[in-house]
Amino acid sequence: MNNRMHLEFPSYSQNESFARMVISAFVTPMDPTLEELSDIKTAVSEAVTNAIIHGYENEIGIIYMDAEINDNKLTVVIKDKGKGIEDVKMARQPLYTSRPDLDRSGMGFTIMESFMDNLDVISKIGEGTTVIMTK
Ligand code: ATP
Ligand code: MG
Repeated sequence: MNNRMHLEFPSYSQNESFARMVISAFVTPMDPTLEELSDIKTAVSEAVTNAIIHGYENEIGIIYMDAEINDNKLTVVIKDKGKGIEDVKMARQPLYTSRPDLDRSGMGFTIMESFMDNLDVISKIGEGTTVIMTK
């Protein structure tokens, strides 16, 4: 089965649950198990939350979500044009957070990596961040 979608939405916090619902509806024809569905929704919501709270911080910017199904393989891309990540390798370490003041636990990337089959993070300071996940 092949399919694709593209979505753009502002970085309001309520759009995190909107993105979860969209990805859930999009992958339903793949007949995922409940566990697979929950993994995909969680990974997407971690990436979208990061774009909201870290990428755009207190400002409202546009979040881009692309998803593709090719031969029953899912690729999801979450992109922001926010502040970017200085050191992606460090940011991906379990328990690393730049915002302990916001009670973040530094587990978002670790969750995305373990719940999906592959995670790529491309980021440039001042230009934004793109997260590519496959399952
Ligand atoms: P948690 O996800 O557990 O609430 P967290 O968001 O700090 O905490 P990660 O999701 O693993 O942890 O992200 C690690 C760090 O990477 C963040 O603290 C932030 O500095 C940086 N980061 C992640 N996503 C982005 C993004 N889209 N734009 C800018 N910085 C980001
Ligand atoms: Mg996070």
